[in-house]
Amino acid sequence: MLKTSKLKKKYISNSHLNNSAEVTLKKPSWIKVKAPISSGYLSTKELIRKSKLNTVCEAASCPNIGECWSKGHATVMILGDVCTRKCGFCNVKSGAPAGIDLFEPLRLAKAISKLNLRHVVITSVDRDDLDDGGANQFVKSVEAIKKLSPTTTIEVLTPDFQRKEGALEKIISSKPDVFNHNLETISRLYKKVRRGASYKHSLNILKYAKELSPTVFTKSGIMVGLGEKIDEIELLLEDLRLAKVDFVTIGQYMQPTKKHLSVERYLTIEEFSKIENLAYKMGFLLVSSSPLTRSSYHADEDFHKLKIARENTINV
Ligand code: SF4
Repeated sequence: MLKTSKLKKKYISNSHLNNSAEVTLKKPSWIKVKAPISSGYLSTKELIRKSKLNTVCEAASCPNIGECWSKGHATVMILGDVCTRKCGFCNVKSGAPAGIDLFEPLRLAKAISKLNLRHVVITSVDRDDLDDGGANQFVKSVEAIKKLSPTTTIEVLTPDFQRKEGALEKIISSKPDVFNHNLETISRLYKKVRRGASYKHSLNILKYAKELSPTVFTKSGIMVGLGEKIDEIELLLEDLRLAKVDFVTIGQYMQPTKKHLSVERYLTIEEFSKIENLAYKMGFLLVSSSPLTRSSYHADEDFHKLKIARENTINV
C-alpha cells in the first residue's frame, strides 16, 4: 500500500477544479426533483445508517435521492467513503482511504435483504491504493448478496481498476447480472473531467467484460453539459457500440458545489430525445436519456426492460 503522504501527492490536486469566479448558470425549469420527505425515504435512510453503509446517492449529492430512496433504491458505495482520485465533477470525498472493512459485504447483504429489492446496484470509490483496486471486495459483496437474496439481480458499477491485473476477471467471475462502467464524458474532455483516467482504457474494460461473459449485460453512462459537441457524443456512442455495450445512460451534469466544474450548458428535453433516438438507431438494447438520468436511476425497471429487449432481439 502507498503511504498516506505519497497518496495525497499522487492523487490529489485542486488545480483542475472550477474557478469560483466563473458564472453559474441558472437551473432551467425542466429540472425538478422530489423533496426527500416521504416515509419510504426516511426508513431507507435509517437502514443505511444502522447498517453503517455509504451510498453514492448521498456522497455525490444525487438529485434523485427523494424519489429513489422512497422506493428503497439506494446505491451502496463500498470500500469506504474516500476516493483516491479527485474528478472535477464528483462530490465524493477525496484523500487517503482507510483499510478494507471485512464486515462490509455482510452488512451490505443484510441491508439489501431487508430492503427486499428485485435489483440492486453496488458501486465503490476508486481504490488505486489497493493491489486489486478493490475487486475482491466487490466479489465478496456479490457473493454475500447472492447468499442472502438469491433472487435479487445484481449490477456492479465499477471504477477502471487502473489496469490492475486480474481485477476485471475477478468481478466477472462473480457473475453479476449487469456490468456497468461509466465513460462519464467524451474523449476530448477527459483531462478536465476525469483526470487520471483514460477514455480508451475505460472502453476496453467494457469490451473485455463482454468478451469474458457474453451473457452479462454491459452498461455505461455519460454526463452532458460539460462542453461536448453533438458529433463528439455521436462518436462516443459509436465507440460504445463497437465495444458491444448494451445499455447507455445520458444525463445532465449538475455542479455539486461551486468548487466543481461549472455547467457549460443545460440541454433541453428535445435534445435529450434526439440523443436517445440516435443511440437507438446505433443498436443499443436500451437507452436512458433525460436531464435526471443517472447511472443507477431506475436501474430496477431498466434491468427488466433490458431482458425483454434481449429476448425480442433473439426472437427476431
Ligand atoms: S439515481 Fe442512483 S445515485 Fe441517484 S439517488 Fe437514485 S440510486 Fe442513488
